[in-house]
Amino acid sequence: MSSAQSSPVERIATEGYDVVVVGAGFAGMYMLHRLRGLGFSARLFEQGGGVGGTWYWNRYPGARCDVESMQYSYSFSEELQQEWDWSERYAPQPEILKYANHVADRFDLRRDIQFSTRVERAAFDERSNSWSVTTSDGKTVNARFVVLATGCLSNARKPDINGLENFKGPVYHTGNWPHEPVDFTGLRVALIGTGSSGIQSAPVIAEQAKHLTVFQRTANFSIPARNAALTDEEREAFRKNYPEIRRFAREVARNGIYAQQPDRGALDDDADARRGKYEARWERGGLTFMYVYNNLGLDRTANDTAANFVRGKIAEIVSDPETAKLLQPNSHPIGTKRICIDTDYFATFNRPNVSLVEIKTNPIQEITANAVRVAGTDHEVDALVLATGFDAMTGSVAKIDIRGRGGQTLNQKWAEGPKTYLGLMSAGFPNLFIITGPGSPSVLSNMIVSIEQHVDWIADGLVHMRKHGLATMEAGRAAEDKWVTHVNEVAHGTLYPQANSWYMGANIPGKPRIFMPYIGGVGVYRQICNDVAAKGYEGFVMERAVQPEAAAAS
Ligand code: NAP
Repeated sequence: MSSAQSSPVERIATEGYDVVVVGAGFAGMYMLHRLRGLGFSARLFEQGGGVGGTWYWNRYPGARCDVESMQYSYSFSEELQQEWDWSERYAPQPEILKYANHVADRFDLRRDIQFSTRVERAAFDERSNSWSVTTSDGKTVNARFVVLATGCLSNARKPDINGLENFKGPVYHTGNWPHEPVDFTGLRVALIGTGSSGIQSAPVIAEQAKHLTVFQRTANFSIPARNAALTDEEREAFRKNYPEIRRFAREVARNGIYAQQPDRGALDDDADARRGKYEARWERGGLTFMYVYNNLGLDRTANDTAANFVRGKIAEIVSDPETAKLLQPNSHPIGTKRICIDTDYFATFNRPNVSLVEIKTNPIQEITANAVRVAGTDHEVDALVLATGFDAMTGSVAKIDIRGRGGQTLNQKWAEGPKTYLGLMSAGFPNLFIITGPGSPSVLSNMIVSIEQHVDWIADGLVHMRKHGLATMEAGRAAEDKWVTHVNEVAHGTLYPQANSWYMGANIPGKPRIFMPYIGGVGVYRQICNDVAAKGYEGFVMERAVQPEAAAAS
């Protein structure tokens, strides 16, 4: 498209880029690679100083992926997946970041990436059918297409806690951790938040700090990771079976993870058989705990059997009965908030230098210069760690001033919740794609499986447009409405909406309560996307450029 030919569509491209990609995480990097391979000109803007996205920012102690390394990796290059050696069952953050850098070098991506540059504004010009993209360095470029690869969990959220700004010691957020080493030796540390990030970091901070006080609002379900070094034999077995493993992850497994699938519901087994299966999965460790049975996300009685099992394990691990009771989750069905995967989280509360403060019944009153005040008691600390999560799925998109047809902003359109067709596009915003956007399986899946599917689908769409001389592609309003309704219906057929989760936007005061990801499973979703494309991009509106002569005559 970037060649200097004569149609208006092509002339625009020579003044800028065919595509601007926002974000150099796993989504943006693969998008850039595909675009280049197809002969599109592309520029990628990344606000961080390097590639890796979530793995660039989340450098907190204990950060590691909760999807197994051999599966949390790109599949698009056979050479890449055969040559890279993962060291552990669950890769630690530095190793994933090293992998991201390796990919950037191996595919020579950096020459088209501008680092330390935020995209601040993107406005669609209806006359030229192109986007004008303004960046934090004050420059504006034109692009026919914009792809938002801004990530689902990339907008770290500082909580509105009274007095936070008065704290005299260092304040860290797990989602925006310093690049320099942080040493807690000899310090009293407060950790606020007990989601995946808090649960991963607590045991590691506790080993270093003089004292760790964990402030827990909602107790969470967590399953042991059983992390271990990968042996050569394990790596080899994966490599040999990659074609089948990847196919299964894309087409069969609901969450994009190759694992044994359940063949029955929890109530189809008697109590002894059930306990045996839960024990086996607990011993194996990891996310697949939730795949013992096929109805844990659907039937509350079935779910209770798994939840009771985990509550029992917590009581076995934690020596102090009162602490154990506080750590046992009771507010939501197991799995309806993202299940956590830990290494020694519950056992950490048996350490003499760790204490738990429950803040559901007595919320934090205030943070003072040197303490966290709860129910009139000052818990004195030297450092604060906020593991308080993200404005998930929409937060990073919302930070960009995006203006579509008629000058409408995406934030205006999404004021009552995100609306997309297939999570990929939003009506009124032509030629603007979102990778793993709200309305797609994204955060309910192995992200890399979902990322590769979206990138390939978008790339195919652009090739289709080029082949047919099309200038714009846009979600149709009727198709979008139908999809939003479908996403909602599928979610409400499950137990998921029963939790006040970030899936529901419930962690952000004032954010509309809409179940954002598509829960139908990655295989079903992929088939829907493929069918839509096969039917000539059914539900999307695709238009040719108006030729200057025709425009002048009208
Ligand atoms: P999160 O799941 O949203 O957890 C945030 C925690 O902070 C919750 O315990 C929350 O309590 C608490 N909190 C928030 N605001 C608070 C306030 N004002 N006062 C007191 N407590 C407050 O965030 P996260 O742990 O960073 O994880 C987010 C997601 O990132 C995960 O679910 C997962 O998908 C992903 N992640 C993955 C990994 C991995 O691969 N291993 C690691 C980290 C994160 P409430 O529950 O009461 O709101």
